[in-house]
Amino acid sequence: MQFQSSSFQALGSAFFTAVQPTPMPAPYWVGRNAALARELGLANDWMDSQEALQVLTGNALAKGSQPLASVYSGHQFGQWAGQLGDGRALLLGELAPTAAYQSAAHGMEVQLKGAGLTPYSRMGDGRAVLRSSIREFLCSEAMHALGIPTTRALCVTGSAQPVRREEVETAAVVTRVAPSFIRFGHFEHFSYNHQIAELKALADYCIAHFYADCRAAANPYAALLQAVAERTAHTVAQWQAVGFCHGVMNTDNMSILGLTIDYGPFQFLDVFDPAHICNHSDEQGRYAFNRQSNIAYWNLFCLGQALLPLIAQIASEEGAQEAALAALEPFKTIFPDALELRMRHKLGLEDSQEGDKTLIDRVLKLMAQNKVDYSIFWRRLSHCVARNDFETVRDLFVDRQSLDLWLLSFSERLAHISCDSQANLMLKNNPKYVLRNHLGEMAIQKAKTQDFSETQRLLEVLQSPYDEHPAHEAWANFPPDWASKIEISCSS
Ligand code: AMP
Ligand code: MG
Repeated sequence: MQFQSSSFQALGSAFFTAVQPTPMPAPYWVGRNAALARELGLANDWMDSQEALQVLTGNALAKGSQPLASVYSGHQFGQWAGQLGDGRALLLGELAPTAAYQSAAHGMEVQLKGAGLTPYSRMGDGRAVLRSSIREFLCSEAMHALGIPTTRALCVTGSAQPVRREEVETAAVVTRVAPSFIRFGHFEHFSYNHQIAELKALADYCIAHFYADCRAAANPYAALLQAVAERTAHTVAQWQAVGFCHGVMNTDNMSILGLTIDYGPFQFLDVFDPAHICNHSDEQGRYAFNRQSNIAYWNLFCLGQALLPLIAQIASEEGAQEAALAALEPFKTIFPDALELRMRHKLGLEDSQEGDKTLIDRVLKLMAQNKVDYSIFWRRLSHCVARNDFETVRDLFVDRQSLDLWLLSFSERLAHISCDSQANLMLKNNPKYVLRNHLGEMAIQKAKTQDFSETQRLLEVLQSPYDEHPAHEAWANFPPDWASKIEISCSS
């Protein structure tokens, strides 16, 4: 692993503090992602080496690495939280683009999460525990394989080092990879502190590296806001379609690239409950499943406010507010349109027809009323369409009369579509495997006994979630009763 000069670091010292990772005793591998290692051009030999284990735990530095913790602020649970920053994450540096990322003009940044104290650790210890590190590792790769924009995860290493949470646990480090880890909160930080030169440098950096099309716009900063809003709308639409609940959509957990970032108390829905709250600490349900698009918009509004001083440099002050609101406006149509498209594909409908939205809404309502398992419903429906026999879907519902009425409408809608092409589209849009809480939990329990085989196998299955994996049929099954008792909070 060899880093090139880091473009983020070149922004200058107002954006970060140089910090060395704090070593951990006797690190061991918990999980490695061979597919991502290949994409990054990291040799197998190196990934198997002691050097890799030490570097990716923070016990040694790779060539060219100049670790840093970045500063950001943000709104947490709707309140301005002031300065936050990388309290336990360290950016090691930037890897040169490889063939797999040829289209990206930008290299890939590598970050260690849980690498020790930084000036932004506040009351925290700079560490991450094994369970939450395994969850992040598995989920970011599961999301990637589902085609959902996300930060990636190269590996997890562990150590016997004790970490105090509700109880004493052990420490781990996740190696995260993304073109950039810049958050809405980075912009909020400089705007709130009236550091307009830095705010501008940050926006220009994002435009130069990731949003080149904005440069030519009449107001590049309003264009940047709109482009971020568009990407965010598409990402959140994908969350909704797959039944993913993020759990902590604070503005510091919102990626400027529209990536899913900071996996904490997330959950893939088991039973379809639109108002599901996955974060045990979220007493008000601010981040409930069906509020995610509204919250995304709220967060984008915060980003818009942060960008106002820059937008106003080109427009007048009044014009700036109008321009920011106008930049956010497309979100209101892009999100529902993107969601409808995804849901239509889940039903195997390539083209759009009047009445499709009603068809989708009706089945979701029935699923909620009948407490139907979200992923199993869609996967079974795909197979039912292929066989033209809907018994296995009917089995999921108590109120079969209402379901039969819906199935009638569905089959009328399908009148001119071939079963095969429709079933194919459905099987590509309705994953068999998602990282349900209980699957993560079982891998974690084994990992706590130093058996990491389940973490590794689960990773591999989640990396092709639309395929059949006959040896792992059980992982596509209903969750056990104890799954509903798993409580996942912000503690990680
Ligand atoms: P999160 O809720 O994980 O997105 O974190 C919010 C803020 O708290 C960020 O600034 C994190 O870096 C920081 N943080 C969370 N956990 C820790 C920890 N154990 N040690 C230091 N900082 C932390
Ligand atoms: Mg965070």
